[in-house]
Amino acid sequence: MAQDCIFCKINQGQVKSDLLHRDDRCFVIRDIAARAPVHLLIIPNQHVTYLTNMSPEQETLVGHLFLVARDMAKREGVASTGYRLVINQGPDGGQEVAHLHLHLLGGRALRAIG
Ligand code: 5GP
Ligand code: ZN
Repeated sequence: MAQDCIFCKINQGQVKSDLLHRDDRCFVIRDIAARAPVHLLIIPNQHVTYLTNMSPEQETLVGHLFLVARDMAKREGVASTGYRLVINQGPDGGQEVAHLHLHLLGGRALRAIG
């Protein structure tokens, strides 16, 4: 738990949010400023700041976030139409909240990147 972290506050129930999933390692909420019909955030319970700072011991946590994202895509009905998983890393990556999270975007055709 980090004092000024919005995701830690949501996780602790200090800030209200619609909780779609919770387990011993992560939780899932809808993004407050959705950029697609389905826009979820898969967030570790632990205050991990950046992917850059993660240790090899946290490898299974990263894998878990992706499998939960896969399950949530099924639940939200976008598994067959497709979706995008995004981690914004650091300033140039556009990361606004310094608590690692995976964006799941779907429900519309997303522009190709690159
Ligand atoms: P980042 O830019 O760090 O990858 O993404 C942070 C995301 O968190 C943004 O898409 C933003 O809309 C979302 N967000 C920020 N504050 C809140 C909040 O209080 N509740 C929810 N549900 N999402 C938030
Ligand atoms: Zn946090």
